[in-house]
Amino acid sequence: MHSFIQCDDIWKVYRLGDVDVQALGGLSLRIEKGEFVAVMGSSGSGKSTLMNILGCLDRPTKGRYRLEGRDVGELQADQLADIRNREIGFVFQSFNLIPRTSALENAQLPLLYRGLPLAEQRAMAVRVLQRVGLAGREHHYSTQLSGGQQQRVAIARALITSPSLLLADEPTGNLDTQSSREIMTMLDALNGEGITIILVTHEADIAAYARREIVLKDGKVLSDRMTKPSAQSVEV
Ligand code: ADP
Ligand code: MG
Repeated sequence: MHSFIQCDDIWKVYRLGDVDVQALGGLSLRIEKGEFVAVMGSSGSGKSTLMNILGCLDRPTKGRYRLEGRDVGELQADQLADIRNREIGFVFQSFNLIPRTSALENAQLPLLYRGLPLAEQRAMAVRVLQRVGLAGREHHYSTQLSGGQQQRVAIARALITSPSLLLADEPTGNLDTQSSREIMTMLDALNGEGITIILVTHEADIAAYARREIVLKDGKVLSDRMTKPSAQSVEV
């Protein structure tokens, strides 16, 4: 039986001029469908590099990453793009919304290449914005929304393709305590609906929403422990 996510001895080395920077150094881990995992570790420990690889945005220099049993290293660029678009949602610290574009259009963006009728795309965006508590804000621009609301738009954009995996790299890093709590409560609810979530955070109280905590050090797993029982027993 393969795991949902399976990393075996993953290395990532960046070449900077004449210098090799080792971001991951022999990292192995398995994550099952339906898990809610917090990835912690000091700055530079390789958290974002790992997320980029898990999200098929980047490939390991060495080692094997399998997603649902498929060896990602053997896939073509267009197959990777397809996996990213269909199966993976990303949320970043800086929201990464398109400026001077409405919440609705931002949420709709991942549907661009799906060839769906525009009315259907908009209806899907309206629904997903409703789901993150932004009904009535569809036509607001980013500058007219608070940080917490902008992150909700980013989550709506990540959810519109119904991904099975949500990757969130310090999603509350730019938010106040109250907005952070709201975002984490939302992620917790999404996990309860079955979405696998991998969350990078520096903060213990944010990590406490997850059910498993993995700490990285020097591009390897330093510790890995279950902190709560899983949201549901998943049979896949
Ligand atoms: P974290 O997210 O835990 O802070 P990163 O994965 O961003 O860590 O970085 C791990 C290491 O790899 C750091 O030493 C960082 O400087 C280096 N690194 C990350 N991305 C690049 C890149 N694109 N080019 C060169 N070095 C990089
Ligand atoms: Mg990082």
